[in-house]
Amino acid sequence: SKAALFDADSKVKITFNDVAGLDEAKEEIKEIVDYLKNPTKFTKLGAKIPKGALLIGPPGTGKTLLAKAVAGEAGVPFFSLSGSDFVEMFVGVGAARVRDLFKQAKEKAPCIIFIDEIDAVGRSRGRGSMPGANDERENTLNSLLVEMDGFATDSGIIILAATNRPDVLDPALQRPGRFDRQISIDKPDVVGREAIFKVHLKPIKLSTDVDPKQLAAQTPGFAGAEIANVCNEAALIAARSDKESVDMKDFQDAMDRVIGGLEKKNKLISPEE
Ligand code: ATP
Repeated sequence: SKAALFDADSKVKITFNDVAGLDEAKEEIKEIVDYLKNPTKFTKLGAKIPKGALLIGPPGTGKTLLAKAVAGEAGVPFFSLSGSDFVEMFVGVGAARVRDLFKQAKEKAPCIIFIDEIDAVGRSRGRGSMPGANDERENTLNSLLVEMDGFATDSGIIILAATNRPDVLDPALQRPGRFDRQISIDKPDVVGREAIFKVHLKPIKLSTDVDPKQLAAQTPGFAGAEIANVCNEAALIAARSDKESVDMKDFQDAMDRVIGGLEKKNKLISPEE
């Protein structure tokens, strides 16, 4: 058989319980679970079910996790791909991938299609660096728009796309009947961070001095991905010194390590600062 062009997960186990904080976003996205589970409730009244929603927010804040949880809650397959691997060097490949994706999704409907980094393919047309290099990306974007317009609202396919650059997106993507819903996902506040710590502390063997509230207070600016990283680093550090459980000192060291990594990354991005 042909190599998969994208990941398809037909048995998603992630649910809203795995997504901490993000209460407003969860509330909004619950509507989509309902569309997938009870389409006729909407269509029998003549309503058109939305085809797509954009999840907007900084890296690591749980956009992919939330999209997966929608599939998990609705019990439908999850097709995912990244805008950056959509953009192929070879003429026609990107557009062919899009068509193939929708063909498979139609066969598996109801389902979720998740496009990470939609901005890589959905940058406004006629914008960007080298002329010529962009033509292929634009072909891919055009075929995405054609596919989105081509399926009926009751086909059971909902497309979720994530970006942290909504400003560069082609306005055509956000016309009615395309990604006409926007859900913003922000970095967590101290309450959100505590909730995220609690999710990621669950599988770890903790010493009694570990306090999620204190960890949350010490990690301003951290996204969920960094919090998950801190929890795992702390467990690795404790294991390396053959401890029976993970204590606050291990978390302290893990936070220092993750903060160090973030600082390095920021330096690489903005060397003049
Ligand atoms: P990117 O834009 O970089 O793709 P993203 O917003 O899609 O990032 P995810 O890939 O969903 O972020 O998050 C990475 C990991 O961080 C998740 O798999 C999870 O372990 C953790 N995480 C992020 N946000 C949350 C959250 N709200 N609750 C629990 N875990 C979270």
